[in-house]
Amino acid sequence: CGIVGYIGHREAYPIVIKGLQRLEYRGYDSAGVMIYDGEDVKVCKTKGKVVDLEAKAAIEMKTGGTIGIGHTRWATHGVPNDVNSHPHVSNSGDLVIIHNGIIENYAPLKEELIKRGYVFHSDTDTEVLVNLIEEIQKNENQKLGKAVQIALNQVVGAYAIAVFDKKNPTEIVAARLGSPLAIGIGEGEYFIASDASPFIEYTSNAVYLEDGEMANIRLHKKIKVRKIQDDSLVDPYIQELQM
Ligand code: GLU
Repeated sequence: CGIVGYIGHREAYPIVIKGLQRLEYRGYDSAGVMIYDGEDVKVCKTKGKVVDLEAKAAIEMKTGGTIGIGHTRWATHGVPNDVNSHPHVSNSGDLVIIHNGIIENYAPLKEELIKRGYVFHSDTDTEVLVNLIEEIQKNENQKLGKAVQIALNQVVGAYAIAVFDKKNPTEIVAARLGSPLAIGIGEGEYFIASDASPFIEYTSNAVYLEDGEMANIRLHKKIKVRKIQDDSLVDPYIQELQM
């Protein structure tokens, strides 16, 4: 399983697809991608291989756009099928998430969200997390990063996630606990991936998130890394990768 993300000035789709191919060695049963085209989020996902995703995307979706996230899934909650594949979109249609790992306490969280009117389309734990983030964002009038942080403090499990909010489309929020996550730092562009292989050809500067850390990755701003639990800022250590 793997995650890839891009925010910058290049076309995101080819970077994300190539990145997913580089992460194929990690194993997976489904693949999916979200591209933000400047107006809307376009999602394409399928059971099967990255080549199957490419074939489906060629028919179903306009792939232009400079922000994108992609995922290869190793199913833990819900069988491998198109609907359970990632990305998952929140009920409002604004938030999009990709997730590697497990949300162990998804069942009580899901029950509570259903009571509050949320509808679930998949059997995944991940769809619970994206709607929990949405509920916190709405109820507490929080920005995406804060809402992600509050949600993750209610979650038991393991994750590498990347979350996008259509309402504020110059940012991706990423977090990790128990699954790897690297951020590639380019000139006016950022890459996110399970390891550096998807972005090594574009930049040799990378920050590896530590367990329990999250990052606000904003276009034309320095990345902000903080501890999920106590909100303390972390000075990100930028590694020079060997190309
Ligand atoms: N638990 C999530 C799911 O089953 C993510 C699995 C993964 O790590 O790819 O959809």
